[in-house]
Amino acid sequence: MSAGSNVAQRQPIDGRHRKMFIGGDWVDAVSGETFETRNPATGAVLATVPRGGKQDIDAAVRAARAAFDGEWSRFKPYERQVLLLRIADLFEKHWEEICHSDTLDMGLPISRTRANRNRVVGMLRFYGGMATALHGETIDNSLPGEVVSFTHREPVGVVGAIIPWNAPTAASIWKIGPALATGCTVVLKPSEEAPLTPLLIADIMAEAGVPAGVVNIVTGTGREAGSPLAEHMGVDKIVFTGSTATGQSIIRASAGNLKRVSLELGGKSPVIVCADADLEKAVPVAAMSVFANSGQICIAGSRLFVERSIHDEFIARLAAYAEGLRIGDGIDPATEIGPLVSPRQLERVTGYLASGREEGARLVTGGTRLTEGTFAAGNFIAPTVFAGVRDDMRIAREEIFGPVISALPFDTLDEAVERANDTPYGLAAGVFTRDVAKAHRLSRRIRAGSVWVNTYHAIDPAVPFGGYKMSGYGREGGVEHLHEYLNTKGVFIRI
Ligand code: NAD
Repeated sequence: MSAGSNVAQRQPIDGRHRKMFIGGDWVDAVSGETFETRNPATGAVLATVPRGGKQDIDAAVRAARAAFDGEWSRFKPYERQVLLLRIADLFEKHWEEICHSDTLDMGLPISRTRANRNRVVGMLRFYGGMATALHGETIDNSLPGEVVSFTHREPVGVVGAIIPWNAPTAASIWKIGPALATGCTVVLKPSEEAPLTPLLIADIMAEAGVPAGVVNIVTGTGREAGSPLAEHMGVDKIVFTGSTATGQSIIRASAGNLKRVSLELGGKSPVIVCADADLEKAVPVAAMSVFANSGQICIAGSRLFVERSIHDEFIARLAAYAEGLRIGDGIDPATEIGPLVSPRQLERVTGYLASGREEGARLVTGGTRLTEGTFAAGNFIAPTVFAGVRDDMRIAREEIFGPVISALPFDTLDEAVERANDTPYGLAAGVFTRDVAKAHRLSRRIRAGSVWVNTYHAIDPAVPFGGYKMSGYGREGGVEHLHEYLNTKGVFIRI
């Protein structure tokens, strides 16, 4: 197999500056400008990275197009498979380095970055496996005479991938993996809040022998680099993960050449705890459905509907669990809750804490920024539970993206479903019950892309993940995901 004649090298590290990756070269922004990325637990500057802009995006799209039309187009499915499996092996080899990078750059505790291995390595192997399983179909037609008709599945072309900061490794791989499996090329724009692991991933692509231009990484802000990528006439498809508001701008920006768009957006996911649930097991799972990654997860189960007969007991247990969580710098393996990613995010979450109080919710636990001792330099918020929340309060309607649970009692299941579905979002939901029939009924009636019963956060490479309603469209994971990177061509041959 050809590993690519024009293969890049790992980035030579020069102090704390990192370069971006375009056409197989490590480069700075054309403007020469940079920005700092900081450790959210300590405030320390970790590195400076290029502040890419329109010209850099142009260069990356040109490189991606040249690779797509050139050497990469000659890679057979089997060769792409071998390459993806090699990349997966390199992720295993560098896994600790990757986990450290994510933890330092965005604060997720190292115990959790380590636990995400299957979402990354497993995903790469899944797509590696799928690279040789993609095929068109022969379809019988009703045309007069002898005409054979069949379909080809072809890569859409150059994919622009724009990702958020809350899971940089998984978000990068969930875009790059299917692109490589299908034969597309990629220009990835990481979040300005957490650009370091995507640059490390570029290193791994180079080490694996990915041909130059197949994967390009341009760092920069949403306005300066993300927007030109979404608008670019040379991009065939945009895959975006981020907020709903940005998703809407991306749709508008993509209109110029009607590029294909898939969107993984925000959520305000309901969790329904029935009176027959195993409370011992439900409490930690319901708590961590929100507190994991300090609530900075799109699927956070932040609206907690609890059947009235167990409401008070459940909330008391939940508060005790929250108060026992170990908060600190994520680099400590014992840490369960790390900091919020940035001072901006801290301001946003403390704004919601104030709004909850002002609108009359009852603060059960947490509700404050932690500022004592080593917490002072970081963006730490105590895990928070509000009870007595009404459906119309802002903390029950808007995505907070912080460690805040809004608890709401309910009396009947019909009422719980109706209120759970009363949201513009539809990303995920949780149900806790011991009754199998109830589990089936609720999972059918909730309008969300993922429903978890007696568990939460379960994500598997083979199972599609994505949103209903304003949580986006398109799926990541599963075979459906690959079809979003493919065009279908119908061919008729008269014989
Ligand atoms: P964001 O929308 O602010 O930014 C996401 C990315 O878009 C960043 O790279 C940013 O630079 C870029 N961007 C910003 N404005 C842009 C524009 N006008 N044009 C092009 N690109 C632009 O989101 P965030 O704060 O980084 O992440 C948090 C959000 O992401 C939450 O709403 C969360 O629910 C969502 N999210 C969703 C999923 C999912 O799978 N559904 C996963 C993780 C995060």
